[in-house]
Amino acid sequence: MFFRDHAGIYIHIPFCDHKCIYCDFYSIITSDNIQAYLKALKKEIDYYAEKYQNRNNYVSVFFGGGTPSLMEPKYLGEILDHLHKRFSIKQSAEITMETNPGTVNREKFREFRHAGINRVSVGIQSFDKKELEFLTRIHDAETAKSAVYDAYMAGIENLSLDLIFNLPGQTSEIWLKTLSEAVNLPVKHISAYSLILERGTILNKMVLKGEIDLQGEEIDADLYEKTIGFLGDYGFEQYEVSNFAKPGYECVHNSIYWQAKEYHGFGTSAHSYFDGKRRWNVSSLKFYIDAVNEKGHAIIGEEELTFDERKEEYRYLYLRHTGLNIREYDELFSEDFMTKNEPLVLELINHGLAEYDGVTLQMTGKGYAVCDEIIARIE
Ligand code: SF4
Repeated sequence: MFFRDHAGIYIHIPFCDHKCIYCDFYSIITSDNIQAYLKALKKEIDYYAEKYQNRNNYVSVFFGGGTPSLMEPKYLGEILDHLHKRFSIKQSAEITMETNPGTVNREKFREFRHAGINRVSVGIQSFDKKELEFLTRIHDAETAKSAVYDAYMAGIENLSLDLIFNLPGQTSEIWLKTLSEAVNLPVKHISAYSLILERGTILNKMVLKGEIDLQGEEIDADLYEKTIGFLGDYGFEQYEVSNFAKPGYECVHNSIYWQAKEYHGFGTSAHSYFDGKRRWNVSSLKFYIDAVNEKGHAIIGEEELTFDERKEEYRYLYLRHTGLNIREYDELFSEDFMTKNEPLVLELINHGLAEYDGVTLQMTGKGYAVCDEIIARIE
């Protein structure tokens, strides 16, 4: 079986304080059903534990959402205790919680740490007042900074920030100011995503009605290039198209996704990949709870990748991440990458888009910017 050496666990917490205009994640505003949801999560964990509890390669747990930091720390603690009872999670595992500033304080972070959280990813998006208002975030820049310091002072030093660039009207001056604020905080990891217009979001409707103009690709490319240069100057090494870390602080959990390794997803709308199959759960909270109570799981779809799809996905993920080890790729897929792609590889190297050390083909900062176009040309 492919890609078995490390595995991760994702737990979806669907509850939010309100709906941000750009968000297409499954989230709900009421917290009425928290107890029923926790019960169903434990039941779903039990269902899979029967099958996978003998594996001892779980290296990460990721609480995503929604807003996991809205929960009382004891609830996340209960889920973690349950996972530890039913799965062999490594002592050194990375346990991340996505956090929304405005839902936490220092004491609450202390409790999360005691519950087992050792990494916090703070969804800040911007430090600019107008941009935060536009995104309908519940916090201002000062609250966001306080959240980071509170987590740090509570003893969680593995801290990450999420930021969004190419917002409507954003100049490079505004974006670089946000980046400067970010690097001045005690954080080890920064994710910087270009604004994506997702179908079904409030933002999408505003754009369709002509209420908002999005900025074009040229500005996007310029802001992206500036991001790579700026964060590189401050010691944040790019290790994926949108992710930058101080050495040793690359996200273990997301690297599982980017290295085509296996993960279980528990909760509403959670996705999994194991035994060569992708599976996904129902989104609705009510349907999820009913399904788990009835069957032990809430899967509503699954697909098995063909050999060619696995091959394409493998090179796509690795080239967007830490580079493609050509020997490993050839062995896994009985391929001869260089014979098929040597002219392209030489072209990429000559144009400063990729580097090749005889083992790994890796994008440069310039290459990451056009990574998808490059990958589409690979045979
Ligand atoms: S807080 Fe996060 S998950 Fe909730 S609506 Fe906003 S962006 Fe979406």
